[in-house]
Amino acid sequence: MIKFLDLQKINLAHQQEIEEKLLKTFRSGWYLLGNEVKTFEESLSRYIGAKYAIGVANGLDALRLILRAYIELGIMQKGDEIIVPANTYIASVLAISDNGLIPIFVEPDLDNFNLDVNKIQEKLTPKTKGIMIVHLYGRVIFSDELKNIARINNLKIIEDNAQAIGAEYNGIKTGNLGDASGFSFYPGKNLGALGDAGAVTTNDKDLANTIRTLANYGSSEKYVNIYQGLNSRLDEIQAAVLDVKLKYIDIENQRRKDIAKRYISEIKNSNIILPSFPDNEKEDVWHLFVIRTLERQKLQTYLTEKGIQTLIHYPIPPHQQLAYKEMNKLSYPITEKIHSQVLSLPISPVMDEKDVDTIILILNSYQ
Ligand SMILES: *Cc1c(COP(=O)(O)O)cnc(C)c1O
Repeated sequence: MIKFLDLQKINLAHQQEIEEKLLKTFRSGWYLLGNEVKTFEESLSRYIGAKYAIGVANGLDALRLILRAYIELGIMQKGDEIIVPANTYIASVLAISDNGLIPIFVEPDLDNFNLDVNKIQEKLTPKTKGIMIVHLYGRVIFSDELKNIARINNLKIIEDNAQAIGAEYNGIKTGNLGDASGFSFYPGKNLGALGDAGAVTTNDKDLANTIRTLANYGSSEKYVNIYQGLNSRLDEIQAAVLDVKLKYIDIENQRRKDIAKRYISEIKNSNIILPSFPDNEKEDVWHLFVIRTLERQKLQTYLTEKGIQTLIHYPIPPHQQLAYKEMNKLSYPITEKIHSQVLSLPISPVMDEKDVDTIILILNSYQ
């Protein structure tokens, strides 16, 4: 069987280095807010090119903390509106609503599943304070036009970079394109920890300090609390593992790009709609390779029978979730179409050419 994602194999590729670091951290007797986190934060900020990186507990917290910090700094207030793509993973939306901010959905582009920038303008109101862009499936969403809309309307650009570490727009890394960016190191992400982990990057010193304080009980000096903060710290153990794996992210992303390139040029079947290839200024990292098909259940069953594991990202859009009952009557036809048609093929740095050959062959003989 070709697994959708072989996490064991992905991590065993770095077995010796990771085990040495784990042992070292275990024996150090220091497990929170120590050297491992400091080292990883420095590595991450250098890699992304942003001045500040703050390790936090997970990707959702990274996004929540960015918005919470904007509120504490008086840049946003409860009831303000944040633009967000309607087809994103629910965490982007949760980060907004959890802060008492209002998510305003914008439809994506059917070819690359990313926010359609042309549809932002019509959603702006005097309460709009930010745009949360999501580099969904590891594909870059950014343009001069987007930047101009944000500048003219005084909006913060918050990147949900959970799926796209290593991607670039005109040589600038995602995570350094907007005002602040949230990362997830959930085990299945392109840079995955051995459990939950996340980070924020930004060039804004006040924002960075506020987030660091908020994530540590609202305290920057022990037992002195400036904010009603939360406990959202990155563990030393996770930071140690991430610092090893960050060294290999470009090599691993390159493997994903090569596989995506082969899928796009070699899958030839009129029942399968392939994603568009990126524009020249974009360097995508293909966290997921997502196709569309009209009879999804049929294709998924066929692939399962042939020993190819696939997943659906995602079956239900945020506005149709029970969690957002008040939005259930809203209609986003493109998003709804995407959610009913998408299927994710295996793509990972540990797949070999033979696996890719097999998948292409089996897809091309599907009727
Ligand atoms: C994974 C993910 C998150 C949340 O990250 P966690 O670490 O699971 O909290 C947020 N946004 C997107 C787009 C994601 O894929």
